[in-house]
Amino acid sequence: MAPAVLKTVADVKDWTAGLRREGHRLALVPTMGFLHEGHLSLIREGRRRADVVAVSIFVNPTQFGPREDLSRYPRDFEGDVAKCISAGAQAIFAPAGPEVMYPQGYQTYVEVTDVSQGLCGARRPGHFRGVATVVTKLLTLFRPEVALFGEKDYQQLQVIRALNQDLHLGADIVGMPTVREPDGLAMSSRNAYLSPEERQRALALSRGLKAAQALLREGTRESEPLVAAVRRELEAAGLREDYVELVDAERLTPLASVVPGQPARLLVAAFSGTTRLIDNMQLGGEENAGRV
Ligand code: AMP
Repeated sequence: MAPAVLKTVADVKDWTAGLRREGHRLALVPTMGFLHEGHLSLIREGRRRADVVAVSIFVNPTQFGPREDLSRYPRDFEGDVAKCISAGAQAIFAPAGPEVMYPQGYQTYVEVTDVSQGLCGARRPGHFRGVATVVTKLLTLFRPEVALFGEKDYQQLQVIRALNQDLHLGADIVGMPTVREPDGLAMSSRNAYLSPEERQRALALSRGLKAAQALLREGTRESEPLVAAVRRELEAAGLREDYVELVDAERLTPLASVVPGQPARLLVAAFSGTTRLIDNMQLGGEENAGRV
């Protein structure tokens, strides 16, 4: 069945009012489009947790810096609709333009303080303010029971958990594991920018994180050698590092070492050519206990 294509705020209000009257449970999957298996895994999990899934497709201008890739961000609306249908979504919210979300005179922004500060927040000023603003708007507009996000954007997930809790939005925020290409590259719409050679070199991010996980399993717990393991792979592939950091998995504060019982996350951002890529993996938890 063709999904409902919602173009305006009024469309969303009408559609969600109908759902409420019929007693449906709604899951929302916010995206910027150019969908891949990572996005589809969120839609499919949404179907498991709710009976109706809505996908938003909106390239949100407020989360792009002045020198970032807003105008050339990849788009494929027809392809996205087909993928949403195949994954089981019933509605697509595709605002016709930025003015639907940010009309003339718009002046309200949401800022999540602590977890927005380091990592990507430090390198992309204003980015998480834009993310927090658009996600708050989507959550208040749709009022979904469940909203699904990928761990691929791990800091973003923590920002969204914080705003959902602090603003009493009441959604169940679900974080889903990173979906990877068979060779380990984290799926991303931005991978479309990579030349074959840059794509090959981009494998250093996941390879480095796996090397660090292996070191931890062998008993190395200090941040420095774990971070160095990632840096070695970046350097060997000729990638320019943006950051490599070991942090507390919830608060995202820097850790000197992985401590049993305290989930840690190793995050990396690096440039392959001019394309900025991010990846992260959990360190601790299973690895902590010496299993895996
Ligand atoms: P984006 O369209 O890049 O803004 O991503 C929309 C949602 O899909 C976000 O919650 C992302 O974290 C998630 N996502 C993107 N790539 C992946 C991936 N490889 N695996 C799982 N989720 C992903």
